[in-house]
Amino acid sequence: MYWGRDWDYFPKAAPRPKPKPGKRRKKFGATWWGRKWVDILSDYEYDQRMSRGRSYARADMVKKFEIGENSISAKVKGSSGDYSVTITFDKFKKKDWKNISNKLKSVPLLMGKLLNNEMPEEIGDATGYCFIPDSFEAECSCPDYANPCKHIAAVFYTVADEIDHDPMIIFKLRGMEKDKLLRMLELSDDITETKEDAKKEKRKVKKKKKKKKKKKGNKLPVQRKKKAIKRKRKTKKSGKPKK
Ligand SMILES: [Zn+2]
Repeated sequence: MYWGRDWDYFPKAAPRPKPKPGKRRKKFGATWWGRKWVDILSDYEYDQRMSRGRSYARADMVKKFEIGENSISAKVKGSSGDYSVTITFDKFKKKDWKNISNKLKSVPLLMGKLLNNEMPEEIGDATGYCFIPDSFEAECSCPDYANPCKHIAAVFYTVADEIDHDPMIIFKLRGMEKDKLLRMLELSDDITETKEDAKKEKRKVKKKKKKKKKKKGNKLPVQRKKKAIKRKRKTKKSGKPKK
């Protein structure tokens, strides 16, 4: 076997996707929040990989992706088969979301924009939280040592399109589902679930009351006993002959 000749041994690299002639190169991030999203990658030094990632996204090399609570999982077409990509973000805590929804509720302008499927530019100042993540953790099954690799970058650029259309995805990536947030903001039409929630809450309160009653019930005899003892002592004292 002559290594020098046996070129077929090596898997051929996938052809670089080229923009179609006459078509303008697509830009990523049409909205301010979409651009901020794409900017997350600008802190990483692998410039070439980022531009290959953009080409991959333009050529629809991201075959499918799923947005979960605080994560994105995707399959990206590669030179030798598909690669699996997972990207994870920091979640906000429950109490943070309560805080955020209370603050949002107090500013009608922000509520109006959210209802209009817009991310209000003032949201950071109004709530004190930064929703666009400034860091992430990512994994790709490709052999590239660099992280983010071009596949991870491609997923970021592909998701930018989705985020342009639905900024609520950013909330989901921070751990809050759109429907749940709308219910917290009292913007949801889905009253059935809120009713169900209210019922659950009522049941909880009833249970708590029952528990309290039980506790009270337990306490009573002890207190009575104590009083009884006190009374006994008193009687003893008073019963003692005085000197
Ligand atoms: Zn990769």
